[in-house]
Amino acid sequence: MKKYSLIFRWVLLIFPVILSSCSSSKYVRREFTYTKSVDTHSKKITFQTKKLYHTGHIYADNQFDGARLNDFKQLNDSTYQALIEPENSPINPSPWYAFKVWSERPDTINLQLKYRHAKHRYDPKISSDRKHWKTISGYTYNVDSTAITFKLPINKEAQWVAAQPIINSADTKTWLDSLTGNPLVSPVKIVGKSVLGKPIYMVKIGTGETKNKKIIVLLSRQHPPEVTGFMALQAFVKQLIKPDSLTKAFYQNYEVWLFPLLNPDGVDLGHWRHNANGIDLNRDWAFYRQPEIDAVTKFIVDESKKYHVQPVLGIDFHSTFKDVYYIFDQSFQSKLPGFCEVWTTGIDRIMLPFKTKKSPYGMTQPISKNWFYKQFKAEAMTYEVGDDTPQNIIEQKARTAAVTMMDLLLKY
Ligand SMILES: [Zn+2]
Repeated sequence: MKKYSLIFRWVLLIFPVILSSCSSSKYVRREFTYTKSVDTHSKKITFQTKKLYHTGHIYADNQFDGARLNDFKQLNDSTYQALIEPENSPINPSPWYAFKVWSERPDTINLQLKYRHAKHRYDPKISSDRKHWKTISGYTYNVDSTAITFKLPINKEAQWVAAQPIINSADTKTWLDSLTGNPLVSPVKIVGKSVLGKPIYMVKIGTGETKNKKIIVLLSRQHPPEVTGFMALQAFVKQLIKPDSLTKAFYQNYEVWLFPLLNPDGVDLGHWRHNANGIDLNRDWAFYRQPEIDAVTKFIVDESKKYHVQPVLGIDFHSTFKDVYYIFDQSFQSKLPGFCEVWTTGIDRIMLPFKTKKSPYGMTQPISKNWFYKQFKAEAMTYEVGDDTPQNIIEQKARTAAVTMMDLLLKY
Protein backbone atom coordinates (compact mmCIF):
# COMPACT_ATOMS: atom_id res chain seq x y z
CA MET A 1 0.00 0.00 0.00
CA LYS A 2 2.75 2.33 1.01
CA LYS A 3 4.64 1.46 -2.19
CA TYR A 4 1.64 2.33 -4.41
CA SER A 5 1.03 5.62 -2.65
CA LEU A 6 4.68 6.53 -3.24
CA ILE A 7 4.39 5.78 -6.97
CA PHE A 8 1.14 7.71 -7.12
CA ARG A 9 2.74 10.72 -5.48
CA TRP A 10 5.72 10.49 -7.83
CA VAL A 11 3.45 10.42 -10.90
CA LEU A 12 1.51 13.40 -9.54
CA LEU A 13 4.78 15.24 -9.12
CA ILE A 14 6.25 14.67 -12.59
CA PHE A 15 3.04 14.67 -14.63
CA PRO A 16 2.81 18.48 -14.88
CA VAL A 17 6.52 18.58 -15.87
CA ILE A 18 5.94 16.07 -18.70
CA LEU A 19 2.84 17.96 -19.79
CA SER A 20 4.50 21.36 -19.82
CA SER A 21 7.61 20.10 -21.63
CA CYS A 22 5.39 18.64 -24.36
CA SER A 23 3.27 21.71 -24.82
CA SER A 24 6.02 24.32 -24.65
CA SER A 25 9.24 22.73 -25.94
CA LYS A 26 9.45 25.61 -28.41
CA TYR A 27 9.82 27.91 -25.39
CA VAL A 28 12.81 25.98 -24.06
CA ARG A 29 15.93 26.52 -26.13
CA ARG A 30 17.07 23.07 -27.20
CA GLU A 31 20.37 21.68 -28.47
CA PHE A 32 20.51 19.91 -31.80
CA THR A 33 22.77 17.36 -33.45
CA TYR A 34 23.49 17.39 -37.16
CA THR A 35 25.14 14.96 -39.56
CA LYS A 36 27.71 17.67 -40.37
CA SER A 37 28.26 18.93 -36.84
CA VAL A 38 30.88 21.61 -36.37
CA ASP A 39 33.20 22.19 -33.41
CA THR A 40 32.43 25.74 -32.27
CA HIS A 41 34.63 25.78 -29.18
CA SER A 42 36.70 28.98 -29.17
CA LYS A 43 39.99 29.08 -31.08
CA LYS A 44 42.90 31.45 -30.99
CA ILE A 45 42.96 34.37 -33.41
CA THR A 46 45.77 36.74 -34.37
CA PHE A 47 44.96 40.42 -33.97
CA GLN A 48 46.38 42.70 -36.67
CA THR A 49 48.80 45.38 -35.43
CA LYS A 50 47.03 48.72 -35.64
CA LYS A 51 49.51 51.28 -36.93
CA LEU A 52 50.45 53.96 -39.41
CA TYR A 53 52.83 52.59 -42.06
CA HIS A 54 55.26 55.04 -43.68
CA THR A 55 57.52 53.96 -46.50
CA GLY A 56 59.20 56.43 -48.86
CA HIS A 57 56.63 59.17 -49.48
CA ILE A 58 53.65 56.82 -49.04
CA TYR A 59 51.49 56.29 -45.94
CA ALA A 60 49.02 53.49 -45.15
CA ASP A 61 46.81 53.28 -42.06
CA ASN A 62 44.56 50.61 -40.50
CA GLN A 63 43.61 52.52 -37.34
CA PHE A 64 39.84 52.48 -37.80
CA ASP A 65 36.99 50.01 -37.18
CA GLY A 66 36.55 47.68 -40.12
CA ALA A 67 40.20 47.95 -41.24
CA ARG A 68 42.37 45.02 -42.25
CA LEU A 69 45.98 45.51 -43.24
CA ASN A 70 48.69 43.21 -41.85
CA ASP A 71 51.77 44.83 -43.39
CA PHE A 72 52.64 47.53 -45.93
CA LYS A 73 55.97 47.79 -47.71
CA GLN A 74 57.68 49.11 -50.83
CA LEU A 75 58.65 46.39 -53.36
CA ASN A 76 60.38 48.61 -55.97
CA ASP A 77 60.44 52.22 -57.25
CA SER A 78 56.72 52.37 -57.95
CA THR A 79 55.15 49.24 -56.39
CA TYR A 80 53.82 48.98 -52.82
CA GLN A 81 52.48 45.81 -51.24
CA ALA A 82 49.57 45.56 -48.79
CA LEU A 83 49.66 42.19 -47.02
CA ILE A 84 46.27 40.77 -46.02
CA GLU A 85 45.93 37.87 -43.58
CA PRO A 86 42.93 36.17 -41.96
CA GLU A 87 42.13 36.14 -38.25
CA ASN A 88 42.87 32.40 -38.12
CA SER A 89 42.81 29.42 -40.46
CA PRO A 90 41.42 27.23 -41.95
CA ILE A 91 38.94 29.82 -43.14
CA ASN A 92 36.40 30.51 -45.85
CA PRO A 93 38.02 32.22 -48.89
CA SER A 94 36.60 35.69 -48.24
CA PRO A 95 39.74 37.86 -47.95
CA TRP A 96 38.51 41.17 -46.57
CA TYR A 97 40.84 44.16 -46.70
CA ALA A 98 40.37 47.82 -45.82
CA PHE A 99 42.92 50.59 -45.20
CA LYS A 100 43.66 54.22 -45.91
CA VAL A 101 46.49 55.28 -48.19
CA TRP A 102 47.97 58.67 -49.13
CA SER A 103 51.17 60.30 -50.34
CA GLU A 104 53.32 63.34 -49.49
CA ARG A 105 53.10 64.43 -53.14
CA PRO A 106 50.92 63.60 -56.16
CA ASP A 107 51.99 60.31 -57.74
CA THR A 108 50.61 57.15 -59.38
CA ILE A 109 51.68 53.97 -57.65
CA ASN A 110 51.25 50.29 -58.40
CA LEU A 111 49.39 48.89 -55.40
CA GLN A 112 49.64 45.15 -54.83
CA LEU A 113 47.18 43.32 -52.57
CA LYS A 114 48.84 40.12 -51.38
CA TYR A 115 46.78 37.48 -49.53
CA ARG A 116 47.76 34.65 -47.18
CA HIS A 117 45.46 31.59 -47.11
CA ALA A 118 43.24 32.76 -50.00
CA LYS A 119 43.05 33.82 -53.61
CA HIS A 120 41.84 37.23 -54.70
CA ARG A 121 38.06 37.63 -54.51
CA TYR A 122 36.75 41.20 -54.07
CA ASP A 123 37.31 43.93 -56.69
CA PRO A 124 38.99 46.88 -54.94
CA LYS A 125 36.69 49.79 -54.07
CA ILE A 126 38.14 53.29 -53.61
CA SER A 127 36.59 56.20 -51.71
CA SER A 128 37.69 59.61 -50.51
CA ASP A 129 34.74 60.08 -48.11
CA ARG A 130 33.80 56.46 -47.14
CA LYS A 131 30.33 57.09 -48.63
CA HIS A 132 30.88 57.11 -52.40
CA TRP A 133 32.84 54.16 -53.73
CA LYS A 134 34.38 53.49 -57.13
CA THR A 135 35.12 49.92 -58.18
CA ILE A 136 38.47 49.15 -59.80
CA SER A 137 38.14 46.29 -62.27
CA GLY A 138 41.37 46.81 -64.23
CA TYR A 139 44.03 44.83 -62.38
CA THR A 140 46.51 42.06 -63.04
CA TYR A 141 46.83 38.78 -61.15
CA ASN A 142 50.05 37.12 -60.08
CA VAL A 143 50.67 33.52 -61.16
CA ASP A 144 48.53 31.74 -58.53
CA SER A 145 45.94 34.52 -57.99
CA THR A 146 47.14 35.16 -54.41
CA ALA A 147 47.91 38.77 -55.37
CA ILE A 148 46.60 41.49 -57.66
CA THR A 149 48.19 44.77 -58.73
CA PHE A 150 46.51 47.94 -59.94
CA LYS A 151 47.47 51.56 -60.64
CA LEU A 152 46.33 54.07 -58.03
CA PRO A 153 46.63 57.84 -58.48
CA ILE A 154 47.48 59.15 -55.05
CA ASN A 155 47.96 62.50 -53.28
CA LYS A 156 47.86 64.15 -49.85
CA GLU A 157 44.18 63.37 -49.35
CA ALA A 158 43.64 59.96 -47.75
CA GLN A 159 41.72 57.41 -49.80
CA TRP A 160 40.06 54.28 -48.45
CA VAL A 161 40.84 51.06 -50.32
CA ALA A 162 38.50 48.21 -49.37
CA ALA A 163 37.03 44.88 -50.48
CA GLN A 164 33.48 46.28 -50.18
CA PRO A 165 32.10 49.60 -48.90
CA ILE A 166 33.01 49.82 -45.20
CA ILE A 167 30.00 49.59 -42.88
CA ASN A 168 31.27 49.06 -39.33
CA SER A 169 29.37 48.64 -36.03
CA ALA A 170 29.11 52.41 -35.42
CA ASP A 171 27.64 52.90 -38.93
CA THR A 172 25.13 50.12 -38.24
CA LYS A 173 24.10 51.71 -34.94
CA THR A 174 23.65 55.09 -36.68
CA TRP A 175 21.39 53.42 -39.25
CA LEU A 176 19.41 51.61 -36.54
CA ASP A 177 18.95 54.87 -34.59
CA SER A 178 17.73 56.58 -37.77
CA LEU A 179 14.97 53.95 -38.07
CA THR A 180 13.62 54.60 -34.60
CA GLY A 181 12.13 57.93 -35.71
CA ASN A 182 9.57 55.82 -37.58
CA PRO A 183 6.45 55.08 -35.47
CA LEU A 184 6.58 51.41 -36.53
CA VAL A 185 10.04 50.92 -35.01
CA SER A 186 10.66 50.29 -31.29
CA PRO A 187 13.52 51.83 -29.31
CA VAL A 188 16.83 49.98 -29.77
CA LYS A 189 17.27 47.08 -27.33
CA ILE A 190 20.56 45.41 -26.33
CA VAL A 191 20.10 41.64 -26.14
CA GLY A 192 23.67 40.71 -25.15
CA LYS A 193 27.35 41.35 -25.68
CA SER A 194 29.93 40.04 -28.12
CA VAL A 195 33.17 38.34 -27.02
CA LEU A 196 34.83 41.77 -26.76
CA GLY A 197 31.83 43.34 -25.03
CA LYS A 198 30.19 45.11 -27.97
CA PRO A 199 26.38 45.35 -27.77
CA ILE A 200 24.18 43.11 -29.92
CA TYR A 201 21.25 45.30 -30.94
CA MET A 202 17.70 44.57 -32.01
CA VAL A 203 14.52 46.50 -32.76
CA LYS A 204 10.93 45.36 -33.16
CA ILE A 205 8.94 46.60 -36.14
CA GLY A 206 5.17 46.63 -35.83
CA THR A 207 2.15 48.22 -34.22
CA GLY A 208 0.67 47.60 -30.78
CA GLU A 209 1.69 44.80 -28.45
CA THR A 210 3.73 41.74 -29.39
CA LYS A 211 1.14 39.28 -28.05
CA ASN A 212 -1.04 37.56 -30.64
CA LYS A 213 1.42 38.45 -33.42
CA LYS A 214 3.26 36.06 -35.69
CA ILE A 215 6.95 36.85 -35.67
CA ILE A 216 9.34 37.34 -38.60
CA VAL A 217 13.04 37.39 -37.60
CA LEU A 218 15.67 39.18 -39.71
CA LEU A 219 19.40 38.54 -39.18
CA SER A 220 22.51 39.92 -40.83
CA ARG A 221 26.31 40.02 -40.80
CA GLN A 222 27.26 36.85 -39.05
CA HIS A 223 30.03 36.99 -41.68
CA PRO A 224 31.83 40.37 -41.67
CA PRO A 225 32.68 40.89 -45.37
CA GLU A 226 29.11 40.21 -46.50
CA VAL A 227 28.20 43.86 -46.98
CA THR A 228 25.99 43.35 -50.05
CA GLY A 229 23.72 41.11 -47.95
CA PHE A 230 23.51 43.86 -45.35
CA MET A 231 22.63 46.41 -48.08
CA ALA A 232 19.77 44.12 -49.13
CA LEU A 233 18.60 43.97 -45.49
CA GLN A 234 18.61 47.79 -45.33
CA ALA A 235 16.45 48.11 -48.47
CA PHE A 236 14.17 45.29 -47.23
CA VAL A 237 13.64 47.09 -43.90
CA LYS A 238 13.08 50.45 -45.63
CA GLN A 239 10.15 48.87 -47.44
CA LEU A 240 8.85 47.23 -44.26
CA ILE A 241 8.51 50.59 -42.49
CA LYS A 242 6.73 52.47 -45.30
CA PRO A 243 3.49 53.95 -44.00
CA ASP A 244 1.11 52.48 -46.59
CA SER A 245 -1.97 50.25 -46.69
CA LEU A 246 0.09 47.07 -47.05
CA THR A 247 2.22 47.62 -43.93
CA LYS A 248 -0.88 48.77 -42.04
CA ALA A 249 -2.62 45.48 -42.79
CA PHE A 250 0.54 43.44 -42.30
CA TYR A 251 1.31 44.63 -38.77
CA GLN A 252 -2.18 43.79 -37.58
CA ASN A 253 -1.04 40.16 -37.50
CA TYR A 254 2.74 40.21 -37.77
CA GLU A 255 5.75 41.71 -36.01
CA VAL A 256 9.35 41.86 -37.26
CA TRP A 257 12.36 41.35 -34.98
CA LEU A 258 15.47 42.83 -36.57
CA PHE A 259 19.02 41.86 -35.51
CA PRO A 260 21.18 43.76 -38.04
CA LEU A 261 24.69 42.88 -36.79
CA LEU A 262 25.39 39.52 -35.16
CA ASN A 263 29.17 39.76 -35.34
CA PRO A 264 30.21 43.30 -34.32
CA ASP A 265 33.71 42.21 -33.23
CA GLY A 266 34.39 40.49 -36.55
CA VAL A 267 33.12 43.50 -38.50
CA ASP A 268 35.19 46.03 -36.54
CA LEU A 269 38.32 43.84 -36.50
CA GLY A 270 38.11 43.45 -40.28
CA HIS A 271 37.70 39.67 -40.04
CA TRP A 272 37.23 37.45 -43.09
CA ARG A 273 34.64 35.18 -41.47
CA HIS A 274 34.81 34.57 -37.73
CA ASN A 275 34.03 36.24 -34.40
CA ALA A 276 36.72 37.25 -31.88
CA ASN A 277 36.84 33.62 -30.68
CA GLY A 278 37.83 32.50 -34.19
CA ILE A 279 34.48 30.76 -34.85
CA ASP A 280 32.06 30.87 -37.78
CA LEU A 281 28.93 32.05 -35.96
CA ASN A 282 26.68 30.51 -38.58
CA ARG A 283 27.78 27.05 -37.41
CA ASP A 284 26.94 27.62 -33.74
CA TRP A 285 23.13 27.35 -33.92
CA ALA A 286 23.08 24.01 -32.10
CA PHE A 287 25.15 24.31 -28.92
CA TYR A 288 25.32 28.13 -28.51
CA ARG A 289 28.95 28.16 -27.42
CA GLN A 290 29.58 31.69 -28.68
CA PRO A 291 28.10 34.65 -26.76
CA GLU A 292 26.63 36.33 -29.85
CA ILE A 293 24.51 33.31 -30.84
CA ASP A 294 23.78 32.44 -27.21
CA ALA A 295 22.35 35.95 -26.66
CA VAL A 296 20.27 36.12 -29.83
CA THR A 297 18.76 32.63 -29.54
CA LYS A 298 18.03 33.13 -25.83
CA PHE A 299 16.31 36.42 -26.57
CA ILE A 300 14.19 34.94 -29.37
CA VAL A 301 13.08 31.97 -27.25
CA ASP A 302 12.49 33.98 -24.04
CA GLU A 303 10.68 36.82 -25.79
CA SER A 304 8.50 34.31 -27.62
CA LYS A 305 7.66 32.68 -24.29
CA LYS A 306 6.99 36.02 -22.61
CA TYR A 307 4.36 37.03 -25.17
CA HIS A 308 3.30 33.48 -26.04
CA VAL A 309 4.18 34.06 -29.70
CA GLN A 310 6.40 32.26 -32.19
CA PRO A 311 8.60 33.02 -35.17
CA VAL A 312 6.96 31.75 -38.35
CA LEU A 313 9.72 32.92 -40.69
CA GLY A 314 13.45 33.60 -40.25
CA ILE A 315 15.49 35.37 -42.94
CA ASP A 316 19.28 35.54 -42.68
CA PHE A 317 21.01 37.98 -45.07
CA HIS A 318 24.42 36.93 -46.45
CA SER A 319 26.65 37.42 -49.49
CA THR A 320 28.36 34.96 -51.78
CA PHE A 321 29.68 34.87 -55.35
CA LYS A 322 26.21 35.13 -56.97
CA ASP A 323 22.64 35.79 -55.77
CA VAL A 324 21.10 32.61 -54.30
CA TYR A 325 18.08 31.74 -52.16
CA TYR A 326 18.86 28.83 -49.83
CA ILE A 327 15.48 27.39 -48.94
CA PHE A 328 14.24 24.07 -47.50
CA ASP A 329 13.78 21.12 -49.74
CA GLN A 330 10.18 19.99 -50.10
CA SER A 331 10.48 17.21 -47.52
CA PHE A 332 10.37 19.72 -44.63
CA GLN A 333 6.90 20.72 -43.53
CA SER A 334 7.23 24.02 -41.74
CA LYS A 335 4.43 26.11 -40.21
CA LEU A 336 4.18 27.88 -43.55
CA PRO A 337 4.67 24.90 -45.84
CA GLY A 338 6.35 25.83 -49.11
CA PHE A 339 6.24 29.55 -48.33
CA CYS A 340 9.78 30.41 -49.44
CA GLU A 341 9.34 28.48 -52.70
CA VAL A 342 6.19 30.45 -53.58
CA TRP A 343 7.64 33.73 -52.28
CA THR A 344 10.89 33.53 -54.25
CA THR A 345 9.00 32.53 -57.41
CA GLY A 346 6.92 35.69 -56.89
CA ILE A 347 10.05 37.84 -56.51
CA ASP A 348 11.55 36.33 -59.69
CA ARG A 349 8.40 37.08 -61.66
CA ILE A 350 8.66 40.80 -60.84
CA MET A 351 12.45 40.98 -61.12
CA LEU A 352 12.68 39.50 -64.64
CA PRO A 353 15.15 39.18 -66.30
CA PHE A 354 17.17 38.97 -63.03
CA LYS A 355 16.26 35.45 -62.03
CA THR A 356 17.85 34.26 -58.78
CA LYS A 357 19.08 30.72 -58.30
CA LYS A 358 17.19 28.66 -55.71
CA SER A 359 19.03 26.04 -53.80
CA PRO A 360 16.93 23.66 -51.72
CA TYR A 361 19.09 22.36 -48.90
CA GLY A 362 18.98 19.42 -46.55
CA MET A 363 19.14 19.95 -42.81
CA THR A 364 22.76 18.97 -42.31
CA GLN A 365 24.49 21.90 -40.60
CA PRO A 366 23.92 24.01 -37.47
CA ILE A 367 23.06 27.23 -39.33
CA SER A 368 20.41 29.80 -38.45
CA LYS A 369 18.00 28.68 -41.18
CA ASN A 370 17.86 25.17 -39.76
CA TRP A 371 17.54 26.44 -36.20
CA PHE A 372 14.30 28.30 -36.99
CA TYR A 373 12.85 25.06 -38.29
CA LYS A 374 14.14 22.78 -35.53
CA GLN A 375 13.26 25.12 -32.65
CA PHE A 376 9.94 26.52 -33.93
CA LYS A 377 9.03 24.58 -37.10
CA ALA A 378 9.31 28.00 -38.73
CA GLU A 379 9.95 28.57 -42.41
CA ALA A 380 13.40 30.04 -43.08
CA MET A 381 15.68 31.22 -45.84
CA THR A 382 19.26 32.33 -46.30
CA TYR A 383 19.04 35.36 -48.59
CA GLU A 384 22.39 35.47 -50.41
CA VAL A 385 23.46 38.49 -52.45
CA GLY A 386 26.26 38.34 -55.02
CA ASP A 387 29.56 40.08 -54.20
CA ASP A 388 29.24 42.13 -57.39
CA THR A 389 25.47 42.52 -57.67
CA PRO A 390 24.90 46.20 -58.59
CA GLN A 391 23.48 48.38 -55.82
CA ASN A 392 20.32 49.27 -57.78
CA ILE A 393 19.51 45.58 -58.34
CA ILE A 394 20.21 44.74 -54.67
CA GLU A 395 17.78 47.44 -53.59
CA GLN A 396 15.10 46.78 -56.21
CA LYS A 397 15.07 43.07 -55.42
CA ALA A 398 15.02 43.58 -51.64
CA ARG A 399 12.12 46.05 -51.91
CA THR A 400 10.27 43.59 -54.14
CA ALA A 401 11.02 40.78 -51.68
CA ALA A 402 9.57 42.78 -48.79
CA VAL A 403 6.35 43.69 -50.62
CA THR A 404 5.89 40.16 -51.95
CA MET A 405 6.53 38.66 -48.50
CA MET A 406 3.95 40.89 -46.80
CA ASP A 407 1.39 40.32 -49.57
CA LEU A 408 1.81 36.58 -49.44
CA LEU A 409 1.85 36.29 -45.63
CA LEU A 410 -1.47 38.10 -45.50
CA LYS A 411 -2.92 35.33 -47.65
CA TYR A 412 -1.18 32.35 -45.97
ZN1 LIG B 1 27.60 34.23 -45.06
